[in-house]
Amino acid sequence: MSAEVVGGLSQAPHKSRTIMSRIYNFSAGPAALPEAVLKEVQAEILEWGGTGASVMEVSHRGKPFMQAAAQAEQDLRDLLSIPENYRVLFLQGGATMQFSAIPLNLMGRGGSADYAHTGHWSKKAIADAQRFGNVNVVCDTSEEGYKHVPAFEQWRCGDAAAYLHITPNETIAGVEFSWLPDTEVPICADLSSTILSRPIDVSKFGLIYAGAQKNIGPAGLTIVIVRDDLIGGFPADEPRLMDYQVMADSDSMSNTPPTFAWYLAGKVFHWLKKQGGVAAMAELNRAKADKLYGYIDQSDGFYTNPVAVDNRSWMNVPFILRDDSLDNDFLSQSQSAGLHALKGHRSVGGMRASIYNAMGMDAVDALIDFMQSFKAANS
Ligand code: PMP
Repeated sequence: MSAEVVGGLSQAPHKSRTIMSRIYNFSAGPAALPEAVLKEVQAEILEWGGTGASVMEVSHRGKPFMQAAAQAEQDLRDLLSIPENYRVLFLQGGATMQFSAIPLNLMGRGGSADYAHTGHWSKKAIADAQRFGNVNVVCDTSEEGYKHVPAFEQWRCGDAAAYLHITPNETIAGVEFSWLPDTEVPICADLSSTILSRPIDVSKFGLIYAGAQKNIGPAGLTIVIVRDDLIGGFPADEPRLMDYQVMADSDSMSNTPPTFAWYLAGKVFHWLKKQGGVAAMAELNRAKADKLYGYIDQSDGFYTNPVAVDNRSWMNVPFILRDDSLDNDFLSQSQSAGLHALKGHRSVGGMRASIYNAMGMDAVDALIDFMQSFKAANS
């Protein structure tokens, strides 16, 4: 079947796919959502929950939305076994707003915090935090181009840190922590591109945050999971909506929340539970990553991934072609084959396949098939 262009998107030639023009979407974010969830949303788009209106058109203070919102929180709590003494906040502003909200809430004006610099996003988090207090960079792999996470014994931790900030999965370089720092200092972690990909022990963190647009739902929603004793230190003269206390006291409804994104995230949580929860996702995600890295590693150097084996991301798999003059051909031909958004971040070059929860093994198989044929045609 040849690819045809409909509405600006080249159509995927996958007979097995149920919706006619759905592509394999390897985007790093906003990223693919589970098809089953999108179909449910489609069915409810005109009338939702007995309201006679769409979820986007009803009050966030009405019973139907309040119930959906509470259910979404409960499902997330169940999925991640979030302890009682943690608050779950449904916020706006993206993970980037948390780069400022975290120091404002947790550092105290002029205080200090430790930050690990292991990639593009931790670098941004550091730059924002530096505006509010003393940032002690405990390790920095920028010079090597972010290829591994240094052992915790090598980190230069400060003695007055209010918290330790880490980015357990760096979305751009595809660098992932395989362990958590063993420290008494509260760990604040940017889990934007790895949340819900596997079980985690929430009690080992002081705060977890994640933009929704990868493993949770649509852009516009940011989840913060914060231990309640860390809430309450927000400076009175800073924007109220960044105060965790204000948002916790109002069940994240101090102002109008992103209702559609919250509703859709709730559907993703429900879908995840039906898949067997995060333990089942972990098994699948590990198998997907193993297969893709396995193929890259045995491609005789035609494709390579530069990250230390222990730090290879399950979610974002960058790879480069030995001959980068083939990059454009790879991208245009993969797109025609229905494999979209494989271009690597401009800072790294090459390719990146993001394989979040909504991407099944079929997506990885289709990618490997394409990579094999491309290699055969260009070796
Ligand atoms: N942190 C990480 C790890 C990310 O991958 C991203 C976005 N790709 C961000 C932060 C920034 O998120 P946002 O655009 O939601 O502010």
